[in-house]
Amino acid sequence: MAKKLGVSRIGKHAKSLLEIDKRYISPSYTRCYPFFIDHGEGAYVWDVDGNAFLDFTSGIGVSSTGHSHPRVVEAITGQARRFLHMSGSDFYYDSEIQLARKLSAVTPGRGNKKVFFCNSGAEAVEAAIKLSRYSSGRQYFIAFLGSFHGRTMGALSLTSSKSVQRARFGPLMPGVIHTAYADCARCAYGLTYGKCDIDCVSYIEDTIFKRNVCPEEVAAIFVEPILGEGGYIVPPPEFHPRLKALAAKYGILYVADEVQSGMGRTGKMFAIEHWGVVPDIVTIAKGVASGLPLGAAVAPSDIMQWEPGSHGSTFGGNPVSCAAALETIKLLEESLIDNAAKMGEYLMTGLRRMQKKSRHLGRLSGKGLMIGMEIVKNRRTTKPAPEVRDRIVEACFRKGLLVLPCGPTSLRFVPPLVIGREEADTALEILEGALSKVGKGRS
Ligand code: PLP
Repeated sequence: MAKKLGVSRIGKHAKSLLEIDKRYISPSYTRCYPFFIDHGEGAYVWDVDGNAFLDFTSGIGVSSTGHSHPRVVEAITGQARRFLHMSGSDFYYDSEIQLARKLSAVTPGRGNKKVFFCNSGAEAVEAAIKLSRYSSGRQYFIAFLGSFHGRTMGALSLTSSKSVQRARFGPLMPGVIHTAYADCARCAYGLTYGKCDIDCVSYIEDTIFKRNVCPEEVAAIFVEPILGEGGYIVPPPEFHPRLKALAAKYGILYVADEVQSGMGRTGKMFAIEHWGVVPDIVTIAKGVASGLPLGAAVAPSDIMQWEPGSHGSTFGGNPVSCAAALETIKLLEESLIDNAAKMGEYLMTGLRRMQKKSRHLGRLSGKGLMIGMEIVKNRRTTKPAPEVRDRIVEACFRKGLLVLPCGPTSLRFVPPLVIGREEADTALEILEGALSKVGKGRS
């Protein structure tokens, strides 16, 4: 365990490497603060100058089993000694079929499913786009405002998180209609939960299907069970069941994008299980292989019926990534999913306590270890305060806690699923210090 965390001044090694980074790395990346990793262990990471940090980002929700979990490293090295690559698109190997069988078993819904393997979340979404068009013979898609599905042209067409992500890349894939997500605290229709008819779902049938597109032409509805990059918004209990029923009514495929919310993060293997909904297609990436690149689209065999050559990937289902994923899933099932649920509750309790003392800490949302907190000018008015949020993120970094922003004005806790009380308490303490520091300034 790291005793002293944080950094008061950027170290000399980081400084010189940052100069090189600036010269050679694409400026399109969004770095919030200059953390330059040297190595990691569990929930802790060390920078190139030897400073330690508690990682509550998991490298954007990826390092599910913690940094370099010994059992995952063992699985990786064992596979690496045998062979690194052969391409599952053209040949056969055991780790790929074992993982496909496991994913078929752990994704919601009974019966045999099939798996298309790729390398990332965006590629998993691309596969789901293509599969839903291919299997339905329909062209259109419904997606949600605020959603993030990736940055390749198809996935980007579904994405509606920030306009900068789409700016100057048009024209995008035609046939995508965006509609409001079930964000009850900031309802797009100005309605109040409890007094509404879950209008975010009924609008699709009453308006979109009447005015924009015939439902018989819609191939799929893409939805994040919990809005991720859009702010860690948890929809009300009725939303997913109603959406699924609407999709089923018109023979539309319901695609759950579990790239961020899946693989145990929310205290269940897949977040959609919180609502008892069985999706037609599930997209998976991020935490599935503890840090090795791997994506997957999983669908029942009667949906995943495309002919040889219709879709493929040279690197998809890389054997080393598959070996890492098999060990990751073992660890999740042994204890980490339960730990995510338990530690999520613990953190949420601490945050609720903190909220009473801080004017800036607004809505708390999320499930398990997918926790979002809105930073507002004042809790009573709930006016967004993205500039205060950014200062909090920076202040946390200085004190040794790595966090990331999300949504228009939120920051998120998305730690490795291995954290215990000690890490949770440290994170809460650092966040509280950051909140009180920025609370003293004008905002
Ligand atoms: N889908 C969701 C829900 C995501 O959160 C992300 C990334 O944040 C993606 C897809 C894209 O994943 P990747 O960055 O691996 O392409």
